[in-house]
Formats: sequence, structure tokens, C-alpha cells
Amino acid sequence: MTTLTTSEFVPLDLDASKWENLQPLYQALVDRELKCSGCLEALLLDRSELDAAASEAYANLYINMTCHTDDEQAKAAYLTLVENVLPQLKLIGFELDKKVVSCPHTKDLDQTRYEVMLRDLASDVEIFRDENVPLQTQDKKLGQQFSELCGAMTVTFQGEEKTLPQVAKHLEETDRAKREEVWRLVADRRYQDHDKLNDIFDEMIKLRHKIAQNAGFDNYRDYMFKAKHRFDYTPKDCEDFHKGAEEVCVPLFRKLNQQRAEALNVDTLRPWDLAVDTKGREPLRPFENADQLVAGTSRIFHRMGASLGEMFDTLRGGDSLDLDSRKGKAPGGYQEMRDRKREPFIFMNAAGMQGDLETMIHEAGHAFHSILSKEEPLLHYRHSPLEFAEVASMSMELLAHPFFDEFYSDQSQADRARRTHLEDLARLLPWIATIDGFQHCIYTNPEHTREDRTAKWLELDARFGAAVNWESLEQYKQVTWQRQLHLFEVPFYYIEYGIAQIGALQLWLQYKKDPQAALKNYQTALTIGGARPLPELFTAAGLEFDFGPQTMNRLMNEVQAELDTLPL
Ligand SMILES: [Zn+2]
Repeated sequence: MTTLTTSEFVPLDLDASKWENLQPLYQALVDRELKCSGCLEALLLDRSELDAAASEAYANLYINMTCHTDDEQAKAAYLTLVENVLPQLKLIGFELDKKVVSCPHTKDLDQTRYEVMLRDLASDVEIFRDENVPLQTQDKKLGQQFSELCGAMTVTFQGEEKTLPQVAKHLEETDRAKREEVWRLVADRRYQDHDKLNDIFDEMIKLRHKIAQNAGFDNYRDYMFKAKHRFDYTPKDCEDFHKGAEEVCVPLFRKLNQQRAEALNVDTLRPWDLAVDTKGREPLRPFENADQLVAGTSRIFHRMGASLGEMFDTLRGGDSLDLDSRKGKAPGGYQEMRDRKREPFIFMNAAGMQGDLETMIHEAGHAFHSILSKEEPLLHYRHSPLEFAEVASMSMELLAHPFFDEFYSDQSQADRARRTHLEDLARLLPWIATIDGFQHCIYTNPEHTREDRTAKWLELDARFGAAVNWESLEQYKQVTWQRQLHLFEVPFYYIEYGIAQIGALQLWLQYKKDPQAALKNYQTALTIGGARPLPELFTAAGLEFDFGPQTMNRLMNEVQAELDTLPL
């Protein structure tokens, strides 16, 4: 493996999980005299290596904890870092940002090379307010309250106490009465806490509005556009996305709902009819263990394009994969780059399901991004904005479609996997528009009452929701937004998935026409990392940076055409 040291400043054996080890190095950077633009560039490289060391220490402890949730020591080590090191890093990082932004030599730097970084740092410095730090902490604490409240929700099902995720799989039961029972159990349990959740959300909105005002903004939406470095698209572009979802995706989505109702032989769909397989089939089981998953995924990537297969194979054999589901492992899946040694890591709970295969392919896309951009000297540029990072992963899910035969000897099973994925796109884009539209409205109308908020939610559901009959279930429908964690814990983070999905679909179209050219574009764009503004990353991949109705129409027509070739 290459050692890509670009700076001698950070000792190779530094234990960067301890603040007492990091502090003198960071302080030296803050105190360093900058005589010319050369000194400034050296500072940026040294800082980059130090940040990478700190980031990798975090990644290692996080990985260790999620792989061993029953190891108290691993958990304690992670929490110590979160509580003692991260806040200090934030403070001193801000000192360094200010030093760079206010340095008279920044104007002598190569403006193209440093454009993105200087733009990001300047806006972070511009919106920072001391008085917002405790407010942001309070907001985080409210987020914890939300997550504790939801985590504590249980129901008694078949005589046993179960968490809501545990009973969710019973929504796939072929017996309609059983599904209804489970659905009502869960909805009732959530509804019990709906006032508490409303209280938390009211408080969050107040806090967030105050944070925005302190920083000199009219509202939290405008503040968050800057805080999230959304320099290249506006609220108007988000509205275009909503319009596209409404005009293009919703009709397709509702047509699929109609087909579902017919297949289930019911007059109208009820909320408990959405997860069951309409033919009563068992779930797909593409593999049995992680070795099979890795071997099959490798074959998929080799067939998709030789260089992808080779890149995927570099993840095998070392310490880059922990995929099998086992006791003592955290839920979910993720890809995490270890920023100093520049090697990706993929975590999963593979249990043999089609969803696991999709996660594997998705996270591999993130790993390709990490690998292709690892020669970039600046850490700031080795990660790209989420709107593009998810193109790297979501596009792989689509490009893998023709190669599902690696996992299914039966053509009808591969077709079923493809159909499920494409149908889900028609559902997902309107849901993203719903959540995003809700947030735009909430934060630009901070004076709204709960009744106003409910009315807006129902209006959005009428515009984007499934063709489902909620008769006599209206009170549950009014609070379905409370299930969406992002609204509480990561405000305004959601449209990114939509923008990326539009990019991924475009790359899929390219690949159908000319696989070689599409993969060349993919690799070229991923190699840039985050060194250029978002629209240029799209351009480098041969994608239009546009997510309005016209682009969406072109893409969803293709999804529809593909669906027409797949059996119902
Ligand atoms: Zn992802």
C-alpha cells in the first residue's frame, strides 16, 4: 500500500485519540507566522495531515465500537473522544479557519485551486456566533430526547414486548387482518407520544430560528443554506425538484399503487397494504454468508468494468470489510474512510437479503470514491459534497442491474429485484419532496401554530402521497412526519438524496448507451473528490446539474420503459 505522506509535521506514531497529543500541534499551527503564500500553503497541508490523523482516530474508535457493541471499553473510548476531543477540535478548527480567511496572503494563492476551500471557510467564519454554541448544544440535546423517546417505544405483540422495528416485518404478512393489527399497534403507540414529540419540535423550531437571527439571517432556511455550503443551488431549485416530483413521479407512483390494489384484489389500498409482496412470495435470498456476498459482488464489478472489479478486490483480504451480521454489532451499514492511511472501511449487517446486496453495492461505490480521490493532498478535497457523494454510490446500485444473475440463477428472481428497486425510486423522490417542502415551510414561517403545521403536512401528503385510503385513520396521518428522524436530528438534510438520485439515474442512462464512456466519466469525476464546486463535479461525470421537471421527466420515462420490460 502507498503511504501518501504530504506533510512531515505530524509524527507517524501520533496517538490522535488524545487531546493532550493533538493540542500542541494545533496550537503550533495557530501560532505559526505566515510570511508569504508559500507559508500559507504549507500550513494548509500540515493542517490537512493533522485533521486527517484526528479524523482517523475518530473513525477507528467508531468502527471498533460498532463492531463490538457489547465491549464496554470500546464504547467508553469512543465516548471519551466525542466528549473531550471533538469540542476542542471544533474550537481550535475555528481559530485556524479565521487565521486562513484573514491572512493577507490568501489573495496570492492559486484562486482556482483554493476556490472551494476558501469559499467554505469564509462562510463558516461569517456565520459563526459565540452565543449560538450553547443553543446548538441545546438543539443536540433535544435531538437526543427525540431519539430516546422513539427508542423506548415498544408494543405487546403475540404476548411479547417488541420494539417497533421488530414488529415492522409483520407488515409483510400475507394475511391482511394480521397486517392491520400490527399497523394499528404501531400507529397507536406512536400516537401516544405525539404531543411530546410536538413539544420537542416546537422547541427546536424556536431555537433554530434564534440561531439564524443571531447570525444575521431572516430565517433558518437561509442560514442553513449557507451552513450546509449550498452555494450552487437555491430554494427555488428545490421548488423545481418538488414540481418535478409532483408532475412526473407522483402519477407513476400512484399508477403503481393502483396495480398493487388490483394484484391484492382490494378496492382501495389501506396503509397496511404497502409492504406485502403482492404475490405472497417469500423474500429474496441472494446469498447465505459474507464470503458469497463478496465473491458475487466482485464478479458483478468485474463484469461492469474491469477497473471497478480490481478496485473492489483491493478491499478484500485486509481489514477493510466487516460484513456478516452477528450478535454485538450495531445496526445499519456505512463506509468510513480512514483519512490518514487512506483506506476505506465498509460495515454491514449482511443477513442474506436483497437489501443487503444493494447496501454492499452502494457502500462499494462510496469506497471507490475514497480510493479514487486519495491522491489529493488536501483532506478538505478528499471528501465531496453529499449531493455528489451519493451519486457515486446510488449509480452503482442501478448499473448493477444487468448482473444480478450472479446471485439469482432464476431470471424471474433477478427481475423481481430490479422491479422492486425501480418502483422504490418512484416512491422515494416524492417522499423527499414532501420532507424538503415541509422544512422550507416550517422554517420560513416560524410563527406557525401546530394547526398550521398539520395543515401544511396534509397539503403535502395530498400533493405527493401514495394513493391510499386513510378513512377513519386521519389522526394518525396528521403525525406521520414524526417518524422522519431527519426533521428532528439533522434539519434540512434530505434533498441531497434527491439531487444525487437524479445524477445516478443520468449515469445509468449513459451506461445503457455506452458503458465504457459512462465508467470513464464516473471515474474522472470521483477522482476530483471535492476539489471543484458541485456543478463541475456533475459536469465532469457528463451529468446535467438540473433537478427540475424536464430532467426528471426524461429520467422517469426511462424508468417506466424499464418497468414495462419487467413482469409484474
Ligand atoms: Zn450513501
